[in-house]
Amino acid sequence: MTQDDLDRSDPARLAEALSIHPATAEKISDQELGAILEHQLATPLEIDLGEIPKSQARTLGELLTGPTPPPIDLLERAKSFAKFCKSTPDGPLPAPIATVLYFALIAKAAITLDQPISALSDVELAHGSRYVAELKHFLEAVRASGEPRAIDPDTTACPDTWQAVLRAAGAAVAATDAVIDGDIDSAFCAVRPPGHHATRDQAMGFCFFNNVAIAARHALDVRGLQRVAIVDFDVHHGNGTEDIIAGDERVLMVSIFQHPLYPYSGAIPKGTNMVNVPVPPYTRGPEVRDMIEAMWMPRLEAFRPEMIFVSAGFDAHRDDELGQLGLVEADYEWITRRIKDVADRHAKGRIVSCLEGGYALGALGRSVAVHLRVLAGM
Ligand SMILES: [Zn+2]
Repeated sequence: MTQDDLDRSDPARLAEALSIHPATAEKISDQELGAILEHQLATPLEIDLGEIPKSQARTLGELLTGPTPPPIDLLERAKSFAKFCKSTPDGPLPAPIATVLYFALIAKAAITLDQPISALSDVELAHGSRYVAELKHFLEAVRASGEPRAIDPDTTACPDTWQAVLRAAGAAVAATDAVIDGDIDSAFCAVRPPGHHATRDQAMGFCFFNNVAIAARHALDVRGLQRVAIVDFDVHHGNGTEDIIAGDERVLMVSIFQHPLYPYSGAIPKGTNMVNVPVPPYTRGPEVRDMIEAMWMPRLEAFRPEMIFVSAGFDAHRDDELGQLGLVEADYEWITRRIKDVADRHAKGRIVSCLEGGYALGALGRSVAVHLRVLAGM
């Protein structure tokens, strides 16, 4: 875990990163540091981002998606990203990445790996080559035009989307390699666009490439693992992941989701390697935990995965208005702990978790923080 930007032994750098007096930085406590970061979190999200000139937003976008991001500190990067995200035609959708980064800092559980561009050969482990070529063509045309274009009513591409989808998938693959190589124990990829609605041949539901399915296939097909599990606790059914991996007996997918709700699928699983647990609106944490214990755990134990991928959507939180489930931070902590138990027993603790949904920023940030703490064994 590297936290160079928050390194106590370098008070000058810390003072600069936090905009505080160097004398304060020298004797700052964990609690004070958390409070300052929390205060700073509120700042960019409250700025009227409509005032940021378009030219500046473009510069920030290039800064963050360019081939060699400059060595600015993570906090500044998160702030810039929040501003950039809110000034793109995608609107507030990618802003959660900034929130997640802040809360990761607060949780002191941030691992900063660069997000490399994904190889299309990896993407094609989960998607048809014709779809990949058509999407590339479409998104490059969007980039050239400089104007957003909708694929469907939910899924709009902006000029930077091609870069963003390559880096989201690239982050998942890089995290997979780093975990398999033993460089890190587990990883969380704070990426958008999400992926679990992207089917083999179709973008939908904010998703273009299925980051988790690509990473899981990379672990199997490129890195030679025999069995991997995918766990999906987003409030929406991961129809795209099911479409790609149903019938692939090297993968066990367990999920829990509100039903009926977008995309209105999943009630009948498409393969024997799928454990789908649809739950009605207004289901709360205790019932969700009981169902996970009864439906997921025996299958995961019997399957003995060598690695676990998580589609970590936090939109089943009771504050999130995209669904009507009643999970709270303690439930995400419990779910993550149960996933980690299986990983510790069978998979040398290997987990790669990727952000999916989560649209109530405060709830998202707090939930990600507890998720990270459990993953990091804190
Ligand atoms: Zn969702």
